[in-house]
Order: sequence, then structure tokens, then C-alpha cells
Amino acid sequence: MEKVVSGIRPTGNLHLGNYFGAVKSFVAMQDQYQCMFFIADWHSLTTHPKPENIQASARTILAEYLACGIDPQKAPIYIQSDVKETLELYLYFNMNMYLGELERVTTFKEKARQQPDNVNAGLLTYPTLMAADVLQHRAHKVPVGKDQEQNMEMMRKCARRFNNIYGVEFFPEPQNFYFGEKALKVPGLDGSGKMGKSTGNCIYLRDDEKTITKKVMKAVTDAGPTEPNSPKPEVIENLFTFLSIASTPDTYQYFDEQWNNCTLRYGDLKKQIAHDLCEIVAPIRAKIEDYSANTELLDKVAREGAEVARASASETLKAVREIIGFRK
Ligand code: ADP
Repeated sequence: MEKVVSGIRPTGNLHLGNYFGAVKSFVAMQDQYQCMFFIADWHSLTTHPKPENIQASARTILAEYLACGIDPQKAPIYIQSDVKETLELYLYFNMNMYLGELERVTTFKEKARQQPDNVNAGLLTYPTLMAADVLQHRAHKVPVGKDQEQNMEMMRKCARRFNNIYGVEFFPEPQNFYFGEKALKVPGLDGSGKMGKSTGNCIYLRDDEKTITKKVMKAVTDAGPTEPNSPKPEVIENLFTFLSIASTPDTYQYFDEQWNNCTLRYGDLKKQIAHDLCEIVAPIRAKIEDYSANTELLDKVAREGAEVARASASETLKAVREIIGFRK
């Protein structure tokens, strides 16, 4: 069975970008593939070098994963820092990757712009740590959002280069996996391109109905369509993206027709989006509260997940050491 691995950094609560871009795919994949999902606490140090309580933050994401429907019996969940094998593979990959190619990664350039006083080596080597996360399990598929495409390209490069240097066919070249037919980018509702924690424009799975409705109703719009069948400006396209992920195809078509014949009222569109998002989020939110209170269960899931992940990674690392020529 093909293996699937993916993770999310515990730098805040899960938002709708994380959910629709990644976690929803995790849940869908756990029945068909051999999955493992992790919480990338080491990765969070690239932007949050002095976390307030990294263990609590990791438990927060763990509770949210469970609330979204990941079943740890099918798909073990582990915390990245519990599997030290990752660090060794990260080191080997770093030896084979070049400064120039790492510097060209868009997410690196973006983060370097966002935090000019902390352009650390961890940021630069973010893709090689991500490659180690996935390739230590020799996984084939990685469910991620559109923003991760370039990091995935770097991951394949790590795998390919290792295989070429040592003349082996050891690592697979993992493919990005999208739940829908194409990569999803959940937009921000403030007119910015992407919903993301660092942009402060998120709707969180923990938000209650009032908060979600307020955030959606405040979404940026324009003066409205004047010509029938005109192309949608970006802020309106963003609203329709929400409609496509939260509502039924019929509802989408209904509002799309209204746009096309210039009768669309943005207030109605936003109310529909808010309502449909609340329907999706409310049951998840209730479960997050339950799981968060069950610390015993959270510890058990993390402990058992770490055991599975360590066993899988140590098998890979044993082979990697042999391939490079280190003592077995
Ligand atoms: P953030 O951008 O909030 O810091 P991460 O970078 O930790 O979140 O991303 C975790 C996962 O969620 C990745 O698979 C990423 O592709 C996905 N993701 C994050 N934001 C979005 C978004 N706006 N649209 C689609 N997927 C997203």
C-alpha cells in the first residue's frame, strides 16, 4: 500500500486554509493509504524561536487533528521532535543541497522579507527538513495546499539527488496530493492572496458561529457587477472560492447565475457562505473542546504515534547509513 505523510506546524490553531488545504485530505486518505500525520514542532522554530509552550501548542493541534476525523488507529499521529531519526536524514540531505537553489525557494524569500532580522539557516533549509520528514518513511504522497508546491519540488530533488549520488533507487519521489482535482489555495477574506497565520486573516476551526459570521460579513468586496457575464475581480473570486468549498454545487450555480445577470447582492452571498461554513465548523469545534480536555488520550495518541514513526524511520536510516558507507 502506498504511504502518505504530511504535517502542520503548531504555531497557532488550525484555520480553514489548513483544513481545506490539508487536513480534509488527511481524513479522506486514511482509509485508502498507509498514512502518518505529524505536528511539525521543530519547523515552528524557524519563525518562533522562543515558543511560549511548545508542548501545549503541539497538543492543541493534536486535539484538532482528532476533531477533524483523523483516526489514530488508521493513521498514527506523532510529534516531529519525538523522532530524532529525522535530524540525521536532514543532515545528509543538507550535504547534497546547494545554497543557490535553497535561496530561490519562494517561501524562503517571503519569510526572509517578513522577518528580516531573523533570516536563519533553519528557514533556508526548511525544504530539506520537510524532505526528511516525508522521506524517512519513504512516502509516496503528501497532501498539501498549493503554497507547498515548490517545497515538494525540492523534496523530489533531495530524493533524486541521493539516489543519483549513491547509485541506488532507494527513495521514491513523493507527489503532492490534492483532495479535489487541483491544488487548493484558500484565500484571505481581507483581499490578500492567502489565508495564513502570519497574515492575521484566518477563520479558525475554534471560532464560534458569531465570530465566523462576523469575519465573513466583513470580507472585502467591490461595487458590484455592471456588465452581464463579466469576469470576477479577485476579491469576488475569493468569495466564490469559499462558496465552492463550503456549499453545494447548486448553491454555487445559483449565485454564479446572479453574478452573471448582475442581480447578485454580496450580503446574501456572504450570509450563505457564513451559514455553510458554520455547519462544517460547529461539529468540529465541539469535538475540539472534548479532545482538548482529554489529556490522557492526547498523550497516548502521541506516544503510540511516535513509536510507529520511530520504527519506520529507523528502518530507513539503517539502510541510508549502509548506502553512504557508515557503520551499520
Ligand atoms: P500557515 O500558513 O498558517 O503557517 P502552514 O504553513 O503550517 O500554515 O501549513 C500547513 C498546511 O496547511 C500545509 O499543507 C499548507 O499547504 C496548508 N495551508 C495553509 N494555508 C493554506 C491556504 N490558505 N490554502 C490552502 N492550504 C493551506
